[in-house]
Amino acid sequence: MDAVVSTPARSNAPAVDRRSPSPELVALLRRRFAERFSTSQAVLLQHGTDESAYLPQPPDAVVFVHSTDEAAFVVRACARERVPVIGFGVGSSVEGHLLAVEGGVCIDFSQMNKVLAIRPGDLTATVEAGVTRGQLNAALLETGFFFSVDPGADASIGGMVATAASGTNTVRYGTMRDNLVSLTVVTANGDVARTASQARKSSAGYNLTQLYCGSEGTLGLITEATVRLHPHPEAYAAAVVHFPTVRAAVDCVIESIQMGVPLARAEMLDALTIRAVNAHSRTTLSENPTLFLEFGASKAQIDEQADIVREIAGNHGGGAFQWANRPEERSRLWTPRHHAYFACLQLKAGSRSLTTDACVPLSALAQCIDETQADIAAHGLLSPLFGHVGDGNFHCLVLVDPGSAAENEAAEAFSHRLVQRALRHGGTSTGEHGVGLHKMKYLVEEHGEPTVALMRAVKQALDPHNIFNPGKVVGPAGA
Ligand SMILES: Cc1cc2nc3c(=O)[nH]c(=O)nc-3n(C[C@H](O)[C@H](O)[C@H](O)COP(=O)(O)OP(=O)(O)OC[C@H]3O[C@@H](n4cnc5c(N)ncnc54)[C@H](O)[C@@H]3O)c2cc1C
Repeated sequence: MDAVVSTPARSNAPAVDRRSPSPELVALLRRRFAERFSTSQAVLLQHGTDESAYLPQPPDAVVFVHSTDEAAFVVRACARERVPVIGFGVGSSVEGHLLAVEGGVCIDFSQMNKVLAIRPGDLTATVEAGVTRGQLNAALLETGFFFSVDPGADASIGGMVATAASGTNTVRYGTMRDNLVSLTVVTANGDVARTASQARKSSAGYNLTQLYCGSEGTLGLITEATVRLHPHPEAYAAAVVHFPTVRAAVDCVIESIQMGVPLARAEMLDALTIRAVNAHSRTTLSENPTLFLEFGASKAQIDEQADIVREIAGNHGGGAFQWANRPEERSRLWTPRHHAYFACLQLKAGSRSLTTDACVPLSALAQCIDETQADIAAHGLLSPLFGHVGDGNFHCLVLVDPGSAAENEAAEAFSHRLVQRALRHGGTSTGEHGVGLHKMKYLVEEHGEPTVALMRAVKQALDPHNIFNPGKVVGPAGA
């Protein structure tokens, strides 16, 4: 992932009492982990910072673990003093997930990066939590299989499970939730639990795998994951096509899906985003709403699918398809999409993005985007818009001067209106980024009090002393 200069722009929640480790606990962890235990200011700051606009809130110490047993050792030691424990993958989350709001010990999983097993016969692989999706796919290169979940960043599998991540391939292969078989987790008393067998399906008891998926480190630590693999299709083809309006581009994707075309990827970029990627990637794409599409199937099936989508696109005023078939051509075609976030930041020198994450049912998507664009225009915001439209999910990057209170307030107000709009359309406050700190205030509105009460009961049962990533998702235990 490109480096991002994080300039904080958002006010943090009011300070709560820190639950810092005692000198005895610090000495124990230093003795056990030696140079893999750190209290250096630079390391603490890095682990108390994510890609959100919040001010950093560093932990008191960081431990780089090498095994499930080591993670369990840290949890047991911290649990004795009720000191918070925060899991850390690569730090690419965007909603304040990682901030140590009550201090505590951060467990960095980046050195637990072994691919433990690849089972082509079962279409699964088992990895340690710190393996990134890039590392897993590199290990799969010669196998004919791939791991499909692709958030923009080269995130860790543990972090992707914890945030229930998704991305450009989701329209075809599903989210992290759909690609999980089993997890190994460390519980609040330091026990090691396996959430499921390796079977493709099971009716044996509660679905703990899905409970931990999306729990954002608040219920336990994920130390290993068994994930699903997919065979590469015989052929791929990528296409770029421009449209007169965002609505036309969105309608093209929705109709294609409704016609049963199994699009492998369907990403929409608005005209402002295209202007940004042209400047950033030195491309000469027409500055109109644009679809980036990918097909994956046999050559004959791709031709058939492309014919259907071309006809639908034509009905919506879409232009000529610009095709790429060879891997290097496809990669050249998709590069601007992959760099869209960083390209957009450069639309406004020194800016910071407040990134939204609305997701609505497909039938409401075009209307929701229309209303959102009208809102952007009415409030004079600089906000490129792009997204995984095949999932009903889109992001606005509201670009603000981090030092301008007025711009930050306007961006927060826009984000609030967008969440309300998504909820009105039957959608969610967060399609893929997660709750973190920023979306906590919408949980009751989205789910209702009885549902959030159930979530709090789960938190209370699994983490009675609120040591795992406190202050996130459902807030303090019993709150
Ligand atoms: C440019 C950019 C584009 C992005 N695009 C997308 C996108 O398209 N789709 C998407 O879903 N996300 C996207 N994201 C957000 C981010 O990449 C995901 O949230 C990612 O899944 C986080 O993984 P990570 O390894 O960085 O986790 P971290 O940020 O390190 O941690 C995230 C959360 O998971 C917890 N956690 C981490 N590891 C563990 C563990 N082993 N056990 C328990 N808890 C743990 C942390 O405590 C924290 O609460 C994007 C981010 C950026 C910067």
